[in-house]
Amino acid sequence: MLGLPAEKLSRLANTPDLQRWWQNYQGADLGIDNYARFMELALSCPVGEHRLLAKYDLVAIKEGKAIIFDWKTYTKRPRNEWLAARWQTRVYRSLLAVAGGHLNGGRPIVPEQIEMVYWFADYPNDPARFSYDAKQFKRDWSVIEKFVDEISSAKKFPLTEDEKMCRFCTYRSYCDRGKQAGQIEDAEAEMEAEELFDVNFEQIGEIAF
Ligand code: SF4
Repeated sequence: MLGLPAEKLSRLANTPDLQRWWQNYQGADLGIDNYARFMELALSCPVGEHRLLAKYDLVAIKEGKAIIFDWKTYTKRPRNEWLAARWQTRVYRSLLAVAGGHLNGGRPIVPEQIEMVYWFADYPNDPARFSYDAKQFKRDWSVIEKFVDEISSAKKFPLTEDEKMCRFCTYRSYCDRGKQAGQIEDAEAEMEAEELFDVNFEQIGEIAF
């Protein structure tokens, strides 16, 4: 457990979903008993003339090894291939390698010592674990730099012609493609969209990165 006030939190779990998730969480062994834990951790670093920022649910560190935890409440357990291709998986691991040294006694955390774990509140015994290495880090960071550079130098930002993309977009109300912000965190919508577009993320990984 994470040193959270269990009794107090139990009282807050006042819907069937929350109660189930909380029970699953309480019964889970995350394997980080002797780790230093950083909850709701924000890390950032400059990329070009911008700043990349990410907020982590939990980063656990012990003797140079770092495990990133991200809690998910998906009703369907996503495929590992889909999770591996997500920007979150790639940005979180690479940013920790770049900006996490202060959590590790001032020494950079080497990519081989970084792992990211998606823990699913409805599938507590089936977390998705992603290791990392220097080659993946180099690939991810150069793509991030390239994208930031492209965005910085773009003169025009035309709306996509493929309006299916807008269904789960956080910014859609600005584009007049929905009255409210889309739920970017709603992975089910993303997964649905993935099926809709018939995207093969493994293939994209090979080609683009
Ligand atoms: S709503 Fe989102 S995806 Fe659609 S055009 Fe606007 S920014 Fe692009």
